[in-house]
Amino acid sequence: MADAVRTRPAAGRAAPGPGPLTRLRDIPGINEASARRLLRLGCRTVADLLRAVPRRHVDQRQRVEIADLREEMEVTVQAEVLRLHARPARARRLTVLEGLVQDSSGQVAVVWFNQRYLAQRLQPGSRVLLHGRVVARRGGGLQLHNPDVEVGEGSGHQVGILTPVYHETEGLSSRWLRHRIPPLLPIADRLPDPLPDDLRREEGLLPLGQALRQAHFPASPAELAAARERLAFDEVFLVQVAAQRARLRRQATPGVRIPFDAEVARTFVAGLPFRLTRDQRVAAWEVLRDMDRPQPMSRLLQGDVGTGKTVVAALASRMAVHAGYQAVVMAPTELLAHQHLDTLQQLLQPSGILPRLLVGSSPARQRREVLAGLAGGHDPVVVGTHALLEPAVRFNRLGLCVVDEQHRFGVAQRLQLRAKAERMPDVLTMTATPIPRSLQLTVYGDLDCSRIRERPPGRRPVATRLVEPPARAQAYAFIREAVGQGRQGYVICPLIDASPTVVARSATEEYQRLQQAVFPDLRCTLLHGRLPAREKAERMAAFAGGAVDLLVATSIVEVGVDVPNATLMAIEGAGRFGLAQLHQFRGRIGRGAHASHCLLFVDPDTDRAARARLEALVAHDSGFELAELDLQLRGAGDAYGVRQHGMPEMQVASLNDLVLQERTRRAATRVLERDPGLRDRRLRQALADYGTVFELD
Ligand code: ADP
Ligand code: MG
Repeated sequence: MADAVRTRPAAGRAAPGPGPLTRLRDIPGINEASARRLLRLGCRTVADLLRAVPRRHVDQRQRVEIADLREEMEVTVQAEVLRLHARPARARRLTVLEGLVQDSSGQVAVVWFNQRYLAQRLQPGSRVLLHGRVVARRGGGLQLHNPDVEVGEGSGHQVGILTPVYHETEGLSSRWLRHRIPPLLPIADRLPDPLPDDLRREEGLLPLGQALRQAHFPASPAELAAARERLAFDEVFLVQVAAQRARLRRQATPGVRIPFDAEVARTFVAGLPFRLTRDQRVAAWEVLRDMDRPQPMSRLLQGDVGTGKTVVAALASRMAVHAGYQAVVMAPTELLAHQHLDTLQQLLQPSGILPRLLVGSSPARQRREVLAGLAGGHDPVVVGTHALLEPAVRFNRLGLCVVDEQHRFGVAQRLQLRAKAERMPDVLTMTATPIPRSLQLTVYGDLDCSRIRERPPGRRPVATRLVEPPARAQAYAFIREAVGQGRQGYVICPLIDASPTVVARSATEEYQRLQQAVFPDLRCTLLHGRLPAREKAERMAAFAGGAVDLLVATSIVEVGVDVPNATLMAIEGAGRFGLAQLHQFRGRIGRGAHASHCLLFVDPDTDRAARARLEALVAHDSGFELAELDLQLRGAGDAYGVRQHGMPEMQVASLNDLVLQERTRRAATRVLERDPGLRDRRLRQALADYGTVFELD
């Protein structure tokens, strides 16, 4: 109270200095233009900037003379620019900036990709500090590969031997940040610390303010490590608290109990045209056992495309209907909803159940009928899109909700769903994007998980290979031959339209090029997300009906296309896609009787990490294995599908740090035992970011 009075600006007196919530553009020394650039880095307020801790620090002790450079070293070199020249690369719109620098011991080549703005900052004669990796050049000799640059003699603000390197954006350098941040550091002590004091002491962690100050300008490697330990702890701890809280809340919510009837299950399985795989049986059993409990089920079913998740959903629906409840099956797109309807109709017909369809584009009469059927209780199963969550949709006795989508069924949807039933229905979420087991606890800490790894027997894996630039013509000949034998294929491009800033093939350009110059005799068509829905559906139907040989598309093809005769998948700029997405693309083929081939076109600028991802895809065909590999290749922040689950990004923590996960998991349990209602105001406030992911209250 007293504080609030004291800090209020009084008339006639100087305004108090900046605080955590002061906007950066109101800070002396930060002008409008810089403030806009900071916004690009996600920083609006002083607190945001303080939390934007350096990517890493340059250890000045690693400064190396050019004559001592060796391949694979990560070094800092102080040198003078001798030559510099920009040239367009073979791939369109990529600029490569090449230079030669020297110090008293020798000279070394430098190369930067897509950093056109550097050409304006550097001239022959500029003194620079370069930090980066040394690689061997193709023609012999060494090269500094895409190094961080600092123009000028020293390294600006430098405390001790560790100089911070920040995320940069055009016009905003690490050097600039290094000068602007120090005056603001004292404000770090005024940020609310989300960790309860007793917990912080038990865990031996620094107070938040100190941690942030040290994370920017540590006096020693030990200070830096302690700072990062504290910040990493927060990041994972908060997710764990949110997930555990959501789980506890769910367990305390009255749900429906759908009793397990062995006879019904047996009859359903006996009526299938195939034998369930072992994984399908285990998953189904886990689902049915959850449904048989009075608490609401919240289970995630993970399995690659084609592993037969829908059958599990059908059996769950069958059981719900037998118990007198209704079931909904929700898909992310209308296209997928139609496909699910087909599958479910086949699977449920022997049980005498006729699923209905409700999507945004359902004709008015059909919509009225379905709404009446659901409200009256004579339609037991409905398939559709998120249109099913609209308030107009009422159920008589909703018991089960199956959600088929890539990202998590959010809090908002859960609340909409709850409003439709007296008690919280059971929820089964299906996803074809498995995440590594080690991330499970964090990303899906509030859900129970089932996994289907096995594929139904008789599936042939897709032969996958890389196509280097010189092999392009050969790859086209291969495609032509397959089409000649009656097959169809997809060509996936990273962009819809050509972009002046991004170097990647666009679907529109590529479609024109392929149709006019490469395959004038084949039937090509273009598909992307900006086409009107009708147009999209028509083109898709033409492809499905065999009237189109090659479908040139953006990532829109990722979901919900099932054309068994399509056995070719060519992916342009494959290095630009994540592993999860590439695996999803590939899941579109290999669905019919003919052998399938996936061609990954590699751009000349594909870096080593991207290449490693592509090689993983060549070597493995299981989404689960790829997920684990991706985690190793990229580190958790970007790993397989984590972003799309709506989690705030981890800046410091590594999600594959199992020790940290276990430590924070236990800490979260302890905190929730002491404070089950989450009354701690600072903790609750810090959890606000997770409120769209987990149901907290
Ligand atoms: P998912 O939803 O996991 O992508 P689906 O449930 O749509 O996979 O199943 C893909 C195809 O495999 C369907 O045509 C389905 O009938 C068939 N299928 C599912 N399980 C089996 C099985 N155990 N044996 C043979 N075919 C199966
Ligand atoms: Mg499916």
